[in-house]
Amino acid sequence: MKAIYDKQNVFAKILKGEIPCKKVYEDEHVLAFNDIHPDAPTHILVIPKNQYTCFSDFTQNASEEEIGTFFKVVGSITKQLKVDDFRLVTNNGAKSGQSVFHFHMHILSGKPLGKFN
Ligand code: AMP
Repeated sequence: MKAIYDKQNVFAKILKGEIPCKKVYEDEHVLAFNDIHPDAPTHILVIPKNQYTCFSDFTQNASEEEIGTFFKVVGSITKQLKVDDFRLVTNNGAKSGQSVFHFHMHILSGKPLGKFN
């Protein structure tokens, strides 16, 4: 069953300019900004501007242009970090740890990140 998008979620408010963010990148389809509670020295969130609840919703319902742009942006942000070591995470659904139900990719870097569990 497709989750219903909550238009009042915190990332929707950031996109509307109702909540501030530390912007890293923006284009027609994508916004990237620093996580407010970083788990690493670099902790960036990349989000599509359109409304998708999670990775599954995004990959099943977004256009190829949106999906392609999104992953290109993730790649160009990691390139700008000028490090080879980083972690990409997306939590898909509450049981995975997703707490904001607007699809986002975490980019983590800047310290040894250890084993993922
Ligand atoms: P997840 O638990 O995978 O859904 O990740 C949600 C992330 O959003 C967490 O890492 C939070 O720290 C982050 N977050 C929540 N509110 C804000 C905010 N206002 N600005 C930036 N990041 C936020």
